[in-house]
Amino acid sequence: MGGIFNSKVKYTLFLGIVAVAIIIACFFYIQSVSRALEEDNLILFDEIATETANSIGSKLGELLTSVRNYTYRFVGFENLSEEEQMAVLAETTNASVFHDMIYIDTEGVALSASFGETFLSRRDYFSIASDGMSNISTIIVDHFTSSRVNVFAAPVISMGQVEGVLAGVHDTEDLKDVIYTETFGGKASCYILNFDGTIVFRPRIDILELDPGISLFEVISPTSDTEQSIMADINSSQNSQGNFSFEFEEESYIASYKAIGFNEWVIVTVIRSSDILAFSNNVLTMTTTFAMIFMLIVIAGWLIWGVKYWISRRKHIKAVAERDNLKYVDLLTGGPSFEKFLFDVKEVFDNTPDDSGIYAMISMDINKFRTVNDHLGYEEGGKILNKLASLIQAGLMEGEFYTRRSADSFCILIKYVNDVDIFGRIETFINDTYYQIEEYKLILSFGVYKIDDFSMDVRSIIDRADLARKTIKGSNESASAFFDDNMLIKIREEKRIENIMEYALESNEFKVYLQPKYSLNDHSKVIGAEALVRWFRDGKMIPPGGFIPIFEKNGFITKIDKFVFEEVCKQQKLWMNRKFEMRTISVNMSRMNLQEPNFVRDLYEICNKYNVPTKYFEIEITESVAFENLDILTRVFNELKNYGFHISIDDFGTGYSSLNMLKNLPVDVLKIDRSFLSDAKNERANNIISHVISLALSLHMKTICEGIETIEQVDLLTELKCDMAQGFYFARPMPIEEYEKKVYGEVLAMT
Ligand code: C2E
Ligand code: MG
Ligand code: MG
Repeated sequence: MGGIFNSKVKYTLFLGIVAVAIIIACFFYIQSVSRALEEDNLILFDEIATETANSIGSKLGELLTSVRNYTYRFVGFENLSEEEQMAVLAETTNASVFHDMIYIDTEGVALSASFGETFLSRRDYFSIASDGMSNISTIIVDHFTSSRVNVFAAPVISMGQVEGVLAGVHDTEDLKDVIYTETFGGKASCYILNFDGTIVFRPRIDILELDPGISLFEVISPTSDTEQSIMADINSSQNSQGNFSFEFEEESYIASYKAIGFNEWVIVTVIRSSDILAFSNNVLTMTTTFAMIFMLIVIAGWLIWGVKYWISRRKHIKAVAERDNLKYVDLLTGGPSFEKFLFDVKEVFDNTPDDSGIYAMISMDINKFRTVNDHLGYEEGGKILNKLASLIQAGLMEGEFYTRRSADSFCILIKYVNDVDIFGRIETFINDTYYQIEEYKLILSFGVYKIDDFSMDVRSIIDRADLARKTIKGSNESASAFFDDNMLIKIREEKRIENIMEYALESNEFKVYLQPKYSLNDHSKVIGAEALVRWFRDGKMIPPGGFIPIFEKNGFITKIDKFVFEEVCKQQKLWMNRKFEMRTISVNMSRMNLQEPNFVRDLYEICNKYNVPTKYFEIEITESVAFENLDILTRVFNELKNYGFHISIDDFGTGYSSLNMLKNLPVDVLKIDRSFLSDAKNERANNIISHVISLALSLHMKTICEGIETIEQVDLLTELKCDMAQGFYFARPMPIEEYEKKVYGEVLAMT
């Protein structure tokens, strides 16, 4: 459990660390992406700005070149007739992109197809072109149309002499369409500045909105020496290009500049720093959003997992607590369970010095509790156990414990000063029970073990109390017994027997004796026998009472029973072979056999093996056992009957069965226990025997009385119409050879 828990905690921690690591990684990733994007965007902006400048420059240059190309048409223009001059002007205007083409002679007299003649000698573009340099004018107001125009002027040169000036007039607004393209999603503005910083062309989108005539260089406040040197660069070189940032009206801007190559103009592209960030922010926002979603998924996953784990953990803890609680409670009485009792007692013992001798373990049991259940039903039986538990509980003092260990068996740990104390407590308890549990008069057995060694295992202590109790089990009134060392000796003896029993069976230490059975009609007639096992060890015989109960406890009895059965079978076979008169021999079968599913089948197989009919066997089952489980018994009896075995109920009268219960069982013989014969003059006992015999007769069963020792008993039984008898009066159990001589002696003598 702990292992799983630890590994789960480790797993959670590991996941947590992974999640945190991913979050940190995401954070750094976003940071670096943001920085890289910013740098990239600056570079990109610079590139786009330069591109734009180049494109504007080349578009203006193209227009200027187109004017320059038309100048050849105007060489010798002044020699043409007025009509011819108008025709050339009109033709050129039509061919060009300009809305008007003007020819200006060296005196400044201008001629145009649209407005005729005028005087333009004071125009800057005219004087510059007159000096041989093509140029573009700043925005000027057209005299005739009042619209804002730019003039592209080029000298008309012949033989190295400027003959005049050709000027193409372009509407400023139209020109803007031609030269400006939208950059940076319309966020950047491209200005064409004069070398002194005044704006020549404003773009449609003018983010600076400077007043006309104001120099950009005056307005912006360069923040560092580098930027001042940039200004100087723009002012000085025709090919200068670069970038700078500046503050204007509390806003920061980034600008990229490039000299246009003529007119001493510079194209400056300006963008708000925040817009360039916003641009990178689009990408960044997406990246961040993805990163955030990912982080959220990780965190949510982690949280869900954590909550689930926490819930399952709590459930588990609750379940364990409930289970532990159940483990420590006896469900029937609600009192402490056996586990709890062991735990409590152990704890007391761990804190009790060895020589204090103040504790005693009592093992208590209800005699024949089964009959309580039989008479009152399980529910009532349970109520009685409950009352008993309450009585024990009520009689406990501080530091004392009790438990219901199993069905009707209780353990109680009490404190005492001397034996009188213990007797007193038991006596009080018996009285309490007698008066307070009226439904049924319980007979209680108490086994007491006075604890002198507190390091002893609690279960072993209880074993000793049990041992003491078992010595009085079966008595007819409540009683108690103290454990003494002889009981231990008995236990050791039992252990010793267990150690040698297998070997003893293999080395033929067990022998079968036969005790003849007689007909009460003809006292001289042996009508059969009972097989009784004997154990010879080291030249001495161990009586069945010394080992059968032990074998019944450890289950070895089933082997012994089969051994006896087979020995009898072998013997019957020998007699069969010799054509002797066959007699039924009864074999005792312990209750243990009833639990074995192949019990009857195995007996049948043995008969088969020796080819002896099953009818020559009688199976004896003692009455005390007979009714513990009527279902099994019925099944086994029917099976035995089907195979052809005879069945007898041994020691009849010692148990609690009634003939009424027997009537549905295929029983052939009732063996009346010898305890009924203890006193042949006891009328009550005789009465019972008489009843049993007549009832058996009515159920078509035969009767046999065992333990017949006197002629009086024989007479009485004969008178009561008992069928058969078995006892020392007739013959003791004897070795098979002796039995053979006794029963088949005459036949043997003849052969
Ligand atoms: P049980 O089956 O009731 O056997 C009759 C017992 O009464 C035998 O004792 C027998 O020796 C004894 N007995 C016979 N006639 C008299 C008599 O006139 N006076 C007195 N006082 N006793 C008499 P045993 O052989 O000592 O056997 C005791 C019990 O051990 C048997 O009682 C039977 O329950 C059990 N037993 C013996 N052999 C086997 C066996 O092979 N298998 C099983 N499962 N039990 C066996
Ligand atoms: Mg018997
Ligand atoms: Mg008997």
